[in-house]
Amino acid sequence: MDKVLVIGGGQAAGWACKTLRAEGYDGAITVVAEEAHDFYERPPLSKDALTADAPLPRLFSPEDMAALQLRWKRPARAVAIDRASRQVTLADGERLSYERLLVATGARARLPVADWAQLDRVVTLRSWDDAQVLRRRLATARRVAVIGGGWIGLEVASSARALGLEVAVFERAPGLCGRSVGPEVAEAIAELHRENGVALHLDCGDLHLAQTPSAIHVSAGGNSESFDLVVVGTGVQINLELARDAGLDTDQGVLVDEAGRTSDPHIFAAGDVAQHPQLGICLQSWAFAQNQATVAARALLGQAVGYREPAWLWSDQCGRNIQILGTPVANGHCVVRRETASAVFFYLDADNRLAQMVAFDQPRAIKLGKRWINTGLALDTSLLANPDFNLMQLR
Ligand code: NAP
Repeated sequence: MDKVLVIGGGQAAGWACKTLRAEGYDGAITVVAEEAHDFYERPPLSKDALTADAPLPRLFSPEDMAALQLRWKRPARAVAIDRASRQVTLADGERLSYERLLVATGARARLPVADWAQLDRVVTLRSWDDAQVLRRRLATARRVAVIGGGWIGLEVASSARALGLEVAVFERAPGLCGRSVGPEVAEAIAELHRENGVALHLDCGDLHLAQTPSAIHVSAGGNSESFDLVVVGTGVQINLELARDAGLDTDQGVLVDEAGRTSDPHIFAAGDVAQHPQLGICLQSWAFAQNQATVAARALLGQAVGYREPAWLWSDQCGRNIQILGTPVANGHCVVRRETASAVFFYLDADNRLAQMVAFDQPRAIKLGKRWINTGLALDTSLLANPDFNLMQLR
């Protein structure tokens, strides 16, 4: 096997390429990417890239990139996969053949109202170029509305406050980050932002936007407020079309097994586009993009590997580090451990086994949690809640 084709130029694609070389593969690797930049990480885009004159957060140094000896097709767009002939067609008509294909097409920002794309005071944040635009726009803005109280929205809100702007967040659900955390954590995050001076509009209902030459007006439930800029962070649309049209099995994302194999043995998928069997969702996190892509690249080389890690993501907001491990559980119960400057929320199943934990400024607790999730340890809730008890003693 000496012909690997990768579609996508994001973090998952980058780690897959790096892994192929690290595992000794010395055949051709062709990468089709819509962006012209080298592989980069996304977490800084809503943080340092907005508040400082930060450089591209490269995944690998220029020297390491050169050592990968990649054949780039960029900026270029793959428009079709012909599985019978094992060829991918690009928008300009060029056809690239492959022996193994990795689909790492990621996702794109989703606008709840298509017409909002016509409003130049409305921006989304997904790519490095988007971050550059947003940074310039924030530099001249005074009042910013953020639509969507998920991770993008809240990190942008935090960055905009750090820049001294007035910020209002509009979230249609009754709580923040409702897809990833329980109500107790949602309320703790809301409290952080209120204390940081953000006006939170939860349960905001359908929003109407109207732009005039000097402002953009956001109307919700009969009230209207004027802003200089609207940042929309209302989730993503998975870039699924290419795989679906090629007849691969798909659901929310491309269905893969633990090794990242799709329903075609010559095609693998990694990162945001891959729907992992154990999680049942497209887990759009930095850790998944890196570690699942690494596994998929090894499987592509024929190694017997599998990705079995609890979900993990972090977010930096209002000067606090929030880490989330695991996934919410139906009929779970929450135990809170509060220390002077930190807190941990444990979500346990009916047998007191840890399903998810959210740690505010407690990164070390997450390491313990990973062990408890992996071993399925039944936990003593009174010890968990006791800030004087050393959690290291729970085994
Ligand atoms: P997200 O985390 O799914 O949050 C989107 C939020 O917008 C949800 O709370 C959603 O509410 C709300 N929403 C949807 N439509 C709305 C509307 N019309 N009006 C008001 N609110 C609306 O998505 P995201 O923040 O856009 O982030 C995109 C992806 O990047 C996500 O997968 C996220 O996990 C990832 N990301 C991760 C990090 C990190 O790990 N630190 C940072 C940034 C981004 P409903 O749930 O009710 O739909």
